[in-house]
Amino acid sequence: MDLLDSLVAKGLSRELPAREEALAVLATSDEELLDVVAAAGRVRRRWFGRRVKLNYLVNVKSGLCPEDCSYCSQRLGSRAGILKYTWLKPDQAAEAASAGVAGGAKRVCLVASGRGPTDGDVNRLTDMVAAIRERHADVEVCACLGLLSNGQADRLREAGVDAYNHNLNSAEATYGDICTTHGFEDRVATVRQAKSAGLSACSGVIAGMGESDEDLVDVVFALRELDADSVPVNFLIPFEGTPLAKRWDLTPQRCLRILAMTRFVHPDAEVRIAGGREIHLRSLQPLALHLANSVFLGDYLTSEGQAGQADLDMIADAGFEVEGADTSTLPPHRAELVAVRRRGAGTRVPPNA
Ligand code: SF4
Repeated sequence: MDLLDSLVAKGLSRELPAREEALAVLATSDEELLDVVAAAGRVRRRWFGRRVKLNYLVNVKSGLCPEDCSYCSQRLGSRAGILKYTWLKPDQAAEAASAGVAGGAKRVCLVASGRGPTDGDVNRLTDMVAAIRERHADVEVCACLGLLSNGQADRLREAGVDAYNHNLNSAEATYGDICTTHGFEDRVATVRQAKSAGLSACSGVIAGMGESDEDLVDVVFALRELDADSVPVNFLIPFEGTPLAKRWDLTPQRCLRILAMTRFVHPDAEVRIAGGREIHLRSLQPLALHLANSVFLGDYLTSEGQAGQADLDMIADAGFEVEGADTSTLPPHRAELVAVRRRGAGTRVPPNA
């Protein structure tokens, strides 16, 4: 198929595909699906081999958010029966992070509900990062605290945070359909702030919220423009008690097309299969490993994922290997831009050693 040959050639040379090509991937038939997976798999292998990076979520503050993101079980007015609690203590966060590291995770993602952190919240995060680094000096730490205000990204960077997650989620044109309390441009500004502070930018999407193919391509291209290092692809988890509770638009085949399109647009970025993989990809999860090079291990923020051992078995059965702590996730031309901290606060090595 000319389309796939063109996309593979562009992916291998890190060239941006045409918007029409990305749309065409989403429009392929089920008959063509394995060809699409094979083509995007070639691009994935060129930049990431057969490695799978494991990430582990720690929900450090859950529920009771004043924002109204309609997909979110922690939103204002949510009636979802989720756990609700205020900030974990540093030792509790470190304890939770240790469970992920023991399972093979090389990145822990510290996530707090809310519009954005106060300066006191940034202090809390700082203490958590120090407690985690006491136990695991080399683990990558990503923070996800919502919209950042001036100077907060710099403070997180100084505290030893490596990456900042803030998803764009949906296309700019339809962003108002999923959230009214903040806008797409607010999210873009936070990703930019994180990047300019030297944090690795993690920003992705949620599919299955009623968006069109054009919307999906728009947001995935917007992420390429932002040059996100990692791109989590979430599939909507339709929580009862939220406005999107009844939305079950996705099929496993559609999820694979979305991941393939994301890989072609972000050939050398970490494409991560995020929330909803078990319920939407179902028995096709192993095929998705040919497209994405990263997954979350175990549970999500407010819902349970499949057991960690089942993830590890799936990775091994599919012929992939868990990425070790001594291997850089990103290819050298990208990794060199991100200097993951290995000194200073939280390590036992003197700062100038
Ligand atoms: S800001 Fe975050 S925690 Fe709050 S409703 Fe939106 S997605 Fe959920």
